[in-house]
Amino acid sequence: MELDLSPIPMECMRCHRTEPMRFYGVCTTCRAELQAAFSRDEREIEVAAYEPKVNVTPNAVALKDD
Ligand SMILES: [Zn+2]
Repeated sequence: MELDLSPIPMECMRCHRTEPMRFYGVCTTCRAELQAAFSRDEREIEVAAYEPKVNVTPNAVALKDD
């Protein structure tokens, strides 16, 4: 028994170009773009993790004033 994993032409769910793919999803171009975007997001999340601390301080001060 042989598992057929040869790419067949399918429409990319992101850019709607038809490209040979092994599984329905996004084309190789979009996959690379999404991967680049994902690694960018990871860095943004790391930076964002520090932001709440900055935002909490002014609110805590404002509550004391009331
Ligand atoms: Zn695409």
